[in-house]
Amino acid sequence: MPITKLKIDRDLCIGAASCVAIYPDVFTLDAENKAVMPKKGGVKTSDELNVTELDVSAIDDSNLLLAAQSCPTKAIFLYDDTGKQVYPEQ
Ligand code: SF4
Repeated sequence: MPITKLKIDRDLCIGAASCVAIYPDVFTLDAENKAVMPKKGGVKTSDELNVTELDVSAIDDSNLLLAAQSCPTKAIFLYDDTGKQVYPEQ
């Protein structure tokens, strides 16, 4: 099932940057040391967005999953097109 939406819980993010190491096209740290994603139009956000809104030419779902799994606090949430949470598994 393709990943359709994702978000970062800023309260959970501790700036460990494992996600950045795995998928730097999608995850970077902002001035508060929280992970953010590049949105088309130039803004960066941690809020939930559709993968089509990402300013990234091609999204690699397995890399997204690896990045989310690498997060020590499970701050990255992934959803499929039915809205089901793919990761962290519930
Ligand atoms: S791996 Fe998790 S804690 Fe570390 S920067 Fe990414 S989202 Fe934040």
